[in-house]
Amino acid sequence: MTQAPAKASRPQLVCRVCSSSNTHLMVEVESNQVLRCQACGHVFLNVAHTAESISTLYEDYGQQGENQYFSGMDAQVLSNIDGYLRRAQELVEVDETDQPLRLLDIGCGNGGLMQRAQQLGFAVEGVEICQPLAQLVRDRLDCRVHGCFVEDLEVDDASYDVITMYDLVEHLAEPCVDLRAVHRLLKPGGVLFVLTPNDDALVRTISKQLYRFTRGRFNRPMKKLYYPDHLSYFTKQSLHELFTRTGFEVLDWHTKNQELGRLEISWLEKIAVRALFVAGDRLSAAGGKHIAYVRKAV
Ligand SMILES: [Zn+2]
Repeated sequence: MTQAPAKASRPQLVCRVCSSSNTHLMVEVESNQVLRCQACGHVFLNVAHTAESISTLYEDYGQQGENQYFSGMDAQVLSNIDGYLRRAQELVEVDETDQPLRLLDIGCGNGGLMQRAQQLGFAVEGVEICQPLAQLVRDRLDCRVHGCFVEDLEVDDASYDVITMYDLVEHLAEPCVDLRAVHRLLKPGGVLFVLTPNDDALVRTISKQLYRFTRGRFNRPMKKLYYPDHLSYFTKQSLHELFTRTGFEVLDWHTKNQELGRLEISWLEKIAVRALFVAGDRLSAAGGKHIAYVRKAV
C-alpha cells in the first residue's frame, strides 16, 4: 500500500454511512483529516473519491503480485480464515444442499481466502478491480474473477450462498452502495461475512490518548492506524447502522485482535502490541477487528 489516493477537489464531509453532515474533526494525521459522525459514531477520512481515483489507487497492488495483500498469511491467519469460513457454512440456511455452496470474495487480492474456501468445498468466485491480481487468481485457482466494482457485476440476483468482505469494507468510498449490491447478490438465507478494523479497539483508544496528551508529537501509532487506503473506521454502532440501512440483520458479531504476523511494524512495536493484546484480553476490552456474519433481514 504505497500509493496515496488521488484527491478530488471537494473533500468528503458527510458521513459515509448515514450521510449526516453533523461531523467533527477527530484528529489530523499528516495531511489526512479523520472525522467522526455525531449521528452514528462512524469515523472516516475526509477524502473524496471517484471510480477513476479508486481504480488508480489499487493499480499498484498488482505490481507486487503474490506478495501484496493477504501477505503475512502465516499458519495462524490461515487457521482463522478456515474458522471464519466454517462458521459461515454453519450459518447458511438455503434449500439446495446437494450443490457446493457458492462463495463470492469481494476484494479477493491474490486469492488467499478463496484458496482456503476451495479446499473447504466451496465453489468460489472473486471480485478484484486490480486487473493483474484478478488474472493471477483466475490462473491459480481456475475460477471466475470479476474485474469490476461489485455494483457493476452482471450476474443474476440471489446468486451466492456466502459473500465475504475480508478487510475490504474500510476501503470503500460508498459502503452503503456496495452493501446494497451485495444484498442483491446474496441468496435469502445466505451469509455475508465482514471483517474490518474496529475503531473502538483498545489499541486505538490508547493511541488517541497518547496523541492528545502529547499534542500530536507522539503520532507514530496514529499514522499506523489511520492511513489513506482506509476511508472508514467502523465502531460497533456505525457497523450495525450500515447493516440496518442496507437491509441486513446480524447473526453473529464479536471482536478479535489482528494476527501479529500481518502487522507491518518493527519487532519492538510487536512486543508492545502483544502486551496490549494480552492486557486487553484480561480486561475483556474490544479487539482490533470486527468479525460479523449477517443475512438479509426478513
Ligand atoms: Zn453517520
